[in-house]
Amino acid sequence: MEHHLLLALPTDTRPLVLSGPSGVGKGTLYNLLFTRHPDTFALSVSHTTRGPRAGESNGVHYHFVPMQEFEDLIAADGFVEHAQFGGNRYGTSKKTIEEQGAKGKVVLLDIEMEGVKQIKNSGIDARYIFIAPPSEEILEQRLRGRGTETEQSVQKRLNQAKVELEYSNTPGVHDIIIVNNDLEAAYKELEEFVYKK
Ligand code: ADP
Ligand code: 5GP
Repeated sequence: MEHHLLLALPTDTRPLVLSGPSGVGKGTLYNLLFTRHPDTFALSVSHTTRGPRAGESNGVHYHFVPMQEFEDLIAADGFVEHAQFGGNRYGTSKKTIEEQGAKGKVVLLDIEMEGVKQIKNSGIDARYIFIAPPSEEILEQRLRGRGTETEQSVQKRLNQAKVELEYSNTPGVHDIIIVNNDLEAAYKELEEFVYKK
């Protein structure tokens, strides 16, 4: 691709909803997309009650908030969608969606299955991408290899992975399912889908 094409917005500028089991490589893939197409995409920065991992900063990767603040935001009807995952809460605030949407970029949401269902019911017109692992064994290797989770958290995430993979078999839920085996090959599939005419 030529440089001017790299900076161009995709023809289809609807929000991208990226989902798939924890450890499959969602973050790795969209970070590549953001790096290779600078100024094109805006991450929907979620709220979460989990603590930051090494290298994660508040307002960039997540808005890290205490449980009370999260619950106050639910009570104030501040979320487009929210869910529990692995013992923590995660949600997309209306404010974040408005702020990111106003930038004139393509908004990307990295969210789990219950959130996907809620976005589908919200009236937001989005494109749905599911990232699948080559196998459950490889998923487990990646999740453990990342070195961010306690044993208990690994177990919760692997159990939830089975549910997410099952849901991905429902016809019509996702516009594309990309198996993240070889990273560059999976990236190409993602980029082609995002930029297809
Ligand atoms: P997610 O955001 O889906 O939880 P990550 O992007 O954090 O997953 O990836 C989990 C781990 O797997 C990371 O250590 C990452 O470097 C690694 N990884 C991602 N994609 C691949 C791939 N195609 N092959 C091998 N390892 C990968
Ligand atoms: P992690 O703790 O690994 O960052 O994220 C765990 C899971 O929560 C991932 O499946 C991720 O996609 C999901 N997630 C992150 N933010 C949100 C959100 O705002 N809403 C929902 N529903 N899920 C989210």
